[in-house]
Amino acid sequence: MAVDAVILGGGCIGASVAYHLAQAGFTDVMLLEANTLGSGSTSKAAGGIRLQHGDPLNVRLAQRSLAELVVFEQLTGVDISLRQVGYLFLISSPSDLAMFDRSVTMQRSLGVPVQDLSPAEAGELVPQLVTNDLVGATFCPSDGYATPESLVQGYATAARRSGVAIRQGERAARIITANGRVEAVQTERGERIATSTVICAAGTGSREIAATAGVSLPVSAERRRIFFSSGSGGVASDVPLTVDFATGFYFHREGPGLLFGGRELAAEELMAPATHRLPVIADLPLKSTWHGDYDMSPDHNAMVGRSAHLSGFYYATGFSGHGFQLSPAVGEHLAQLVVGQEPSIDLTPLRAERFAEADGTRVEPIVI
Ligand SMILES: Cc1cc2nc3c(=O)[nH]c(=O)nc-3n(C[C@H](O)[C@H](O)[C@H](O)COP(=O)(O)OP(=O)(O)OC[C@H]3O[C@@H](n4cnc5c(N)ncnc54)[C@H](O)[C@@H]3O)c2cc1C
Repeated sequence: MAVDAVILGGGCIGASVAYHLAQAGFTDVMLLEANTLGSGSTSKAAGGIRLQHGDPLNVRLAQRSLAELVVFEQLTGVDISLRQVGYLFLISSPSDLAMFDRSVTMQRSLGVPVQDLSPAEAGELVPQLVTNDLVGATFCPSDGYATPESLVQGYATAARRSGVAIRQGERAARIITANGRVEAVQTERGERIATSTVICAAGTGSREIAATAGVSLPVSAERRRIFFSSGSGGVASDVPLTVDFATGFYFHREGPGLLFGGRELAAEELMAPATHRLPVIADLPLKSTWHGDYDMSPDHNAMVGRSAHLSGFYYATGFSGHGFQLSPAVGEHLAQLVVGQEPSIDLTPLRAERFAEADGTRVEPIVI
């Protein structure tokens, strides 16, 4: 069998690429997903969407993505339950405050409606918080959260309608190359799918599958856990997604309770930073929990682009905790590269080859 392009991975990135290729009229495409659509990091995400990034490229990608997310249902027919309740960052050290000040200046220059708040103003927004040890806060009202697995279904359904083939339970075992070009993808079942174009969107599996083609994508898995409480402790239904930046503890409302998480994997360990910042959480019974993996890159910034060494090989991974919210613009970007359109945003600074270059790293400082 032969197709014009094979997408590896059916998370938010692969599904977005499929949709945007189809929108560009490029539909002789097959998406291979090793398990089920969205079953990787995407379905484990907290669903956070923010314009508050430290790298201007991420701000611009987030702005372009948000523009698509607000009309997602009109585009695909699927409701992603977008709630623009804002993101509230709580800052407790002078060095973090200096970094946020720089970021806010940059964000405002790009049109982000971000506000500097005093600790007291943060407390007015979320009265259950302890704020006496904070030095500042930032709030952006257009930020919020949505349901990642619905986004995957929306993109995949729309792509299928346009003729993109999606195979689930089909792992790519290796990418076959010849003379510096992509030639085919071989599945784990041994089928050979001839193609000149591979788009690697395999999340934490990207390193392994890219290596079969001799491409280095230094992405690694970092485990994170999310908890759900059965009650809200009086936290308002429209509370912003609130992040205690120093500890990584964050929460938002989810149904009748709270969704919360942080850097600690065990509830007993997370409870120290959690109860320090939001004491009511100590009295909330835990209802459920799950874990997933961040797709980390060495500088906490994504790797997106077209291989300089292997013709026909495209990739997007290493989102380091913010892949869901950037997936619309990243999918659009890869589709533009594949079909030969002028990219809406120049993402060459995010090329994976940067790690082999002097001064190539590009650190994203606002990672939760
Ligand atoms: C606990 C947690 C909370 C998070 N919160 C947020 C958040 O609030 N906001 C945000 O923006 N991001 C968040 N993230 C990060 C976000 O989930 C990821 O950055 C994003 O989902 C990456 O999407 P992806 O499509 O690249 O990867 P994935 O969703 O992992 O998809 C990759 C897919 O590729 C498949 N695959 C792998 N190898 C192969 C192969 N060889 N052949 C075929 N298929 C293959 C996998 O089965 C998988 O389904 C969070 C992550 C976690 C774990």
